[in-house]
Amino acid sequence: MDFSHITPSPIQPVEDKWLREKKISLFIKRDDLLHPEMSGNKFRKLKYNLIEVKKKRYDTILTFGGAYSNHLYAVAAAGEAYGLKTIGIVRGERPEPLNPTLRFAENKKMELHFISRTQYRSKYDEAFIGGLQDRFGRFYLLPEGGTNTEAVRGCTEIIDEIDVDFDYITCACGTGGTLSGLIAGLDGRKNMIGIPVLKGGEYLKNEIQHLVRDYNGKIYLNWYLETGYHFGGFARFTDELIDFINDFKHRHKIQLDPIYTGKIMFGVFDLIRKGYFSEGSRIIAIHTGGIQGIAGFNQRFGHLIR
Ligand SMILES: *Cc1c(COP(=O)(O)O)cnc(C)c1O
Repeated sequence: MDFSHITPSPIQPVEDKWLREKKISLFIKRDDLLHPEMSGNKFRKLKYNLIEVKKKRYDTILTFGGAYSNHLYAVAAAGEAYGLKTIGIVRGERPEPLNPTLRFAENKKMELHFISRTQYRSKYDEAFIGGLQDRFGRFYLLPEGGTNTEAVRGCTEIIDEIDVDFDYITCACGTGGTLSGLIAGLDGRKNMIGIPVLKGGEYLKNEIQHLVRDYNGKIYLNWYLETGYHFGGFARFTDELIDFINDFKHRHKIQLDPIYTGKIMFGVFDLIRKGYFSEGSRIIAIHTGGIQGIAGFNQRFGHLIR
């Protein structure tokens, strides 16, 4: 499998008068530009899993996600691109008509299988997985969000690509897989700030420590979670967040998504404004993608993201 045409992603400065006045340099690592369909961190997390799938001669990937999942979208696209059958176990009832994310997945020949929210909570139980094997045969099981050790490995490569000097890196956390890869990639250098997009993101701390340790056996202390920017929880939002995303696009010509990257850029701007970073600090925010989700978001909540 050749991925060399996909990476690296560009890194670009965010120019703004108030940032100059604060003497802060801010850069965005544009992983959203990696690939039109396997975008952002979902490509990073898939890369070594796909290599593993081929090495172990699987012909099917089975994975899990919500109805608007960036991960399901990317896996469906990867399945088509690399000739693998894909099965998506989706939380909740099948929506009629399908939302844009699931429609895309089905068009890419992903087999969608809907389960109740209760069932979804016990999706990794042996009995449930056994039932899936009886039904679908041999498959490579990719956890929700694509997060596992191979995903962490893929995300370390974001760090390898960075060719500007910096003091801080920041990214959005869902499962924490991406942050784990960034922490491992930094290997104790600089400072890492993770911004959970779910309420109660503190629990991620242990999760991330485990993911990093499973990857390279180390424990790092140069990172922490900034838990004040979830906006009420996963996929929750306020008018202020929506205005920020629309204004950011207008000023910087960069599209942010309302679930992940909008929240972290809002958080970074807010921390800068509050003087969290000392003068002269150089900050890199990772644009982890997620743009595919905007169509479904707008359909669901009215045309909020312009
Ligand atoms: C999935 C996703 C994340 C969260 O990544 P984790 O590795 O689960 O923490 C962040 N940003 C975007 C755009 C995503 O799609």
